[in-house]
Amino acid sequence: MQGIISNLIKYLRFFGGSHVCNVCNRRVRSFFPFSSDLQQAATSAGFPYDFRRMETLNFDDCNCPFCLSSDRERLYMLYLSNFFKNYPIQYLMLDFAPSKAFSQAIRKFELVSYSSVDYYRSDVDLKLDICNMIGVQSGTYDIVICSHILEHVTDPDKGLAELYRILKPGGFVIVMVPLFWDVDQTMENPAYDSDELRLKYFGQKDHVRLFSKQDFTNRISNAKFDVKALDISWFDLKDVRKYAIADNSILYVCSKS
Ligand SMILES: [Zn+2]
Repeated sequence: MQGIISNLIKYLRFFGGSHVCNVCNRRVRSFFPFSSDLQQAATSAGFPYDFRRMETLNFDDCNCPFCLSSDRERLYMLYLSNFFKNYPIQYLMLDFAPSKAFSQAIRKFELVSYSSVDYYRSDVDLKLDICNMIGVQSGTYDIVICSHILEHVTDPDKGLAELYRILKPGGFVIVMVPLFWDVDQTMENPAYDSDELRLKYFGQKDHVRLFSKQDFTNRISNAKFDVKALDISWFDLKDVRKYAIADNSILYVCSKS
C-alpha cells in the first residue's frame, strides 16, 4: 500500500509537462538533478574538478524520476532509435553494464538481437572481461555500447582492441567515459589503490583513471577506429530539448571500416 501511495505521489509530482524520457516513454515535468552524494563524496576526498564542467552531463536535469535513466542514456537512445529507423535491418548488439531500464527499452526494438554483458553482475546475459573476450569470435557484433567502462579497467587499450576485434566491419561502438574539461592529462597510478585515493584522484572509488579528452580520443584512434564526435548540433534540437539532453553532450561513435 505504501508503495502504491509513493508511486502515486511521484506521478502527481513528475508526470506530464513538456519533457519526455525516451527510455521509458513517459512525459516528465522535471528530471532529478545529478547525485549530490557522488559529488560530495568526491569533493570531500579532495577531488578538485567540478561536475558542472563535465562533458555529457545534464547536472540539473539528469535522471528520469520514473526509470532513473541518465541524460547520456537518453542521448544513446535518441541516436540508436534514429539509426534503427533509417537503416531497418537486423542487428546483433552488445551492451556493457547497462541499466535495467535501458536494457528493457532496447529489447523492444524487433530489429535488435541484444545481449547485456558484465564481468561481475549476475543479472546480465553474458559474463565477459572486456580486455579478454575469450569465446567471442572476431567480427561478431554490429553495435556495441561501452559507456563508462574504460575508466574502471586496468588496460583500456586492450579493451579498445577487443572491442575492435569483436565488431563486424561497418559496425560501430559507442564509447564514452567521464571527461572533465579541466583535466589536461590522463591521470592513473597503480599506487592509488584505496577507496580514499581513488575518490581523490579519479572522482569515484571504483575508477582507476581520469581521462583527458585528448588522450581518450587518441586512444580510440590508435585502436584503428574512425571516430565521429557528435555534438548536439548533429541532432534535431527539438529532440535534444524534449529529452533533456545536455548542451555539452558529445557522442563518440567509433566505427570499424
Ligand atoms: Zn524514464
